Amino acid sequence: MSLTASVGVEENGVAREERVSISSASTAATTGSERTMRVDGGYVTNQRPSVGEGFAKVHEEAIEDRDFPFISKAVAEAYEGVRLGHGGPFGAVVVRDGEIVSCCHNMVLKNVDPTAHAEVTAIREACQKLGRYDLADCEIYASCEPCPMCFGAVHLSRIKRLVYGAEAEAAVAVGFDDFIADAIRGTAYYQKASMEIKQVDGKGKSAAEEVFQNTKSKFVMY
Ligand SMILES: [Zn+2]
Repeated sequence: MSLTASVGVEENGVAREERVSISSASTAATTGSERTMRVDGGYVTNQRPSVGEGFAKVHEEAIEDRDFPFISKAVAEAYEGVRLGHGGPFGAVVVRDGEIVSCCHNMVLKNVDPTAHAEVTAIREACQKLGRYDLADCEIYASCEPCPMCFGAVHLSRIKRLVYGAEAEAAVAVGFDDFIADAIRGTAYYQKASMEIKQVDGKGKSAAEEVFQNTKSKFVMY
């Protein structure tokens, strides 16, 4: 499965829309044997794909073959992180030109850091190794559907392609109920946040907003 998500992001106070290519590592072929719903609610299966559909299937399988080693590496990291007692069973790999740049697992327990998710950790390490904060020429492979924080980090890093393995439900099934994994789907079904959110008004709001005008000539926009 592959789709392009459109999300609104705000960076340096400027709202913009970004697109990122997202692929599920599912091996389910979506061409060649597509089902068509009949008017009575049943399905008929198209067993004879057209030449175009056949080509699309071959192309998709080639991409899956290319993705498999990297998603496997992310999954191996998930196991390794648990074995080492570093955190939850999540792994992520950043890839550039077919080469692994960083390969990390969840480090929340080890680092005593709730933001040390596998994807964030892998992005940080990749940026350090490449010496830049823009990973536009990279892809990221995550063992599981990213949470909103990691999804946001993927966007901020400008990574061009996100491939994930497990759907959120697999993590939710073992108790990750704070996983809030619906970022890609644009829903908040699993979100169980009980936090109060408030924007200040009056002087506090003015002072906070003045930061941008007062500093705009003193930093470089990236
Ligand atoms: Zn995350």
